[in-house]
Amino acid sequence: MYFYNICSSQKIIHLSDCRYITNSTKKQFGHFYGLKEALKKGYRPCRHCFTVAGRFAEEKERIDKYCKRYNYIISQSNNSLEITTGRGEWKIVQAEHSQRTELYHKNTQTRDSDRCSRIEGYHNQRVTEYELVDYIHYIARHDGSNQKVSKGTKRYKNMQKKLAAQAKRQSVSNVLYLIDRLQMSRAV
Ligand SMILES: [Zn+2]
Repeated sequence: MYFYNICSSQKIIHLSDCRYITNSTKKQFGHFYGLKEALKKGYRPCRHCFTVAGRFAEEKERIDKYCKRYNYIISQSNNSLEITTGRGEWKIVQAEHSQRTELYHKNTQTRDSDRCSRIEGYHNQRVTEYELVDYIHYIARHDGSNQKVSKGTKRYKNMQKKLAAQAKRQSVSNVLYLIDRLQMSRAV
């Protein structure tokens, strides 16, 4: 839930564990169930509590539920989330000058432009979702993990082929990486 002070003329919303909320009496506050609703009514996220880490704590139950469903591994480091889907890597990070979040994606093959991205090796996916859990749904749509593919179908066979090719590419690039490292350590 997202809270706002009913006595304040400033339209600011907070997460439930913001110290602004915990230091006051609950009576002063109204709430929204969804972030979308609050933002559409012109509320702005609080600068103190709306961090990726804070929002993750707030939505953790829902996020964990869907990561489990899609078989994603999620981990939190500082103020960002990393999601491994088996098809790629994703990061949800705080935008540089606002309380917004950004989604970054890493393909199995790195494009040249990804090397000088804000997050090296990743490209900005340029989607903005309201809640963090919505990014999990976005990723699932992107990866096709939300669709059940039944065995024996043409699509299943294609997917198996694709996954095998992906695994092969990955192992080749792992070997190349190791050779690189070896040469580097010899050069020192
Ligand atoms: Zn707050």
